[in-house]
Amino acid sequence: MVKKKTQPKKKVQPKKKIQIKKKVQATKKEEIKFIGKVTKIRQAEPATVIEWPRTMTHIHTYGMLSPFFEGLRIGELRATFCPNNGCPEERLWIPPRGHCPDCHTEMAWKTLPNPVIGTIHTFTQVVYAGTGIELSTPYWQVDVEIPGLATIPKSYLLYGKPFIGMKVKAGFRTKKPTNTVLDYHWVPLET
Ligand SMILES: [Zn+2]
Repeated sequence: MVKKKTQPKKKVQPKKKIQIKKKVQATKKEEIKFIGKVTKIRQAEPATVIEWPRTMTHIHTYGMLSPFFEGLRIGELRATFCPNNGCPEERLWIPPRGHCPDCHTEMAWKTLPNPVIGTIHTFTQVVYAGTGIELSTPYWQVDVEIPGLATIPKSYLLYGKPFIGMKVKAGFRTKKPTNTVLDYHWVPLET
């Protein structure tokens, strides 16, 4: 048998890409700059500890609930209600709701006539408040029943000692308002 000579396949060499070297030009203007404040080294031993102060501004929108906070600023307690005549829930809501939890209709607003008188449903004393609670401690957190409401909102007693069934009147921080829910509180009508 005659061996057929097989010719080795020619390897196709990939064409070399010609790379054109670009000159990297970094001008002073294009350099990334450090825009912070340099940290302080608090201690170096046994390990480096730096002091790195941080601050944060929380931007928060009240959205559809804005009328509630506008009301507090002028001494009004405003509640939402469902304007849908076919909805089984006719009572008022505080904290307000943008939409009816029962039928999802956009809520309407009602200002409670002053003075707003409520009854303490329950209470608790806050001794160790969490971060962000901007009230001096200890304070009494009170859940207050307000006639016509579907809810029993929480707030705080401005002074005095609460008891279940105590009549209280809504008060407002209209001078230097915090623009938060802390702008209303309850004051005792009886002791
Ligand atoms: Zn509804």
